[in-house]
Amino acid sequence: MGKETSPCWNPKIEMMPKKDLESLQLKLLRSLVSRVYDSSSYYRQRMEASNLTPDDIHGLKDIIKLPFMTKKDLRDNYPDKFFLAPKRDIVRYHASSGTTGKATIVGYTRNDIDAWTESLARSLTSIGLGADDVIQVSNTYGLFTGGLGFHYAAERIGAAVIPASTGNTQRQIELIKDLGVTALAATPSYLMYLGEIAEKMGISIKNDTVLRTGLLGAEPWSEGMRDRIQNWLGVKGINCFGASELAGPLWSECSYQKGIHIWGDFAYFEVLDTKTHEPLGLGEKGELVITMLQKEAFPLIRYRIGDITSMDDEKCECGRTHPRMARITGRVDDMLIVRGINIFPSQVEYSLLTNPEVGNEFQIIVERKSALDSMMVKVELKPEAFTDSIAELNKVRERIEHKLRSTLNVSACVELVQPGTLPRFEGKAKRVVDNRKL
Ligand code: ADP
Ligand code: ZN
Repeated sequence: MGKETSPCWNPKIEMMPKKDLESLQLKLLRSLVSRVYDSSSYYRQRMEASNLTPDDIHGLKDIIKLPFMTKKDLRDNYPDKFFLAPKRDIVRYHASSGTTGKATIVGYTRNDIDAWTESLARSLTSIGLGADDVIQVSNTYGLFTGGLGFHYAAERIGAAVIPASTGNTQRQIELIKDLGVTALAATPSYLMYLGEIAEKMGISIKNDTVLRTGLLGAEPWSEGMRDRIQNWLGVKGINCFGASELAGPLWSECSYQKGIHIWGDFAYFEVLDTKTHEPLGLGEKGELVITMLQKEAFPLIRYRIGDITSMDDEKCECGRTHPRMARITGRVDDMLIVRGINIFPSQVEYSLLTNPEVGNEFQIIVERKSALDSMMVKVELKPEAFTDSIAELNKVRERIEHKLRSTLNVSACVELVQPGTLPRFEGKAKRVVDNRKL
């Protein structure tokens, strides 16, 4: 499939000689650090605690002098203590799931939305998409960033956009067929599910539609899954990456599918040893740390996003010079991604413990029976809450399920178990059993 080099959205930047790109990154980093030092008490205090001023950043490598940021910092500064832009310059808010059920709010200025859109527009163009395409966006619209992120970028490159969002799969398949959809943005597992439902409807995605590109991300997936999607559905699976704290979906592979092009004028990626936090070499797998170089409302400097991957710095066959990120192969924390939604066991615990009947032990079991993931939570009851009345137990179970759904944004089946029946742990509790095979 299409190995020919596709047009470039912004050739001057995308094909920039490496040395020039690095000078540009240094310029942007220095101005970012000065800006946060001058106008944010949070950053200034942290830099002062490390005995740093903006003048200590002489080269890109000096970034390692700067302190890390974590999800906890974002949570502690809820809702907008981090924001650097005045309130009247904020034009949009999104929210991402937090680890205790409290969301992280991200604000955007006009320029932030523009940079986000430009970033993904470059990526979509690098896959060969453009004005002749019909792009169906089957990511969630709303507080999640997936839907609107792909929507704006697809519009910017002149494609026709179908804002399908999630759900109503039969209707989605009819739209794909009737409107000649050529590209679909979704989680890889949703595309597989859609393929199964289409077959039940007597429609072959491969033979009866012109859908040829899948813009796939938001959850881990493998080369094996890419092959299946390609062979079974005739859809070229393109790996896409982003996160709501950074903006939303921002980057993808180009048509050569050799790693995700990370636009260096927008972001600087480091890969560090998971234990020592020493920088690793190209191709070495470790913890990803991200600095967003141009964000106005919500800057992020050395943000420990939690993903494990490696970087490649060779010029791509397509001619683009920016660094490329390999597949994400794991997490440094215990975050689970179920149907594209991030879930922390601590969120599950937080929700469960709001029910007076719930004891101290629970276990999360994730399966992939058909294409879509399902999540079950086994919950121990307190001895005094345990009863022989099935009606009583059902009522408790339904209430727990309802609360979980509203905390996690994804439904989970709850199974109530007798006190003392779940495994106990002497060390770190292992509360997640993930039976999915990628
Ligand atoms: P998204 O809309 O991409 O799901 P979130 O902020 O909800 O944004 O989640 C971001 C996280 O999702 C990333 O840190 C990463 O763990 C995961 N993720 C996103 N894209 C991919 C991908 N292509 N492969 C593996 N994991 C991904
Ligand atoms: Zn490329």
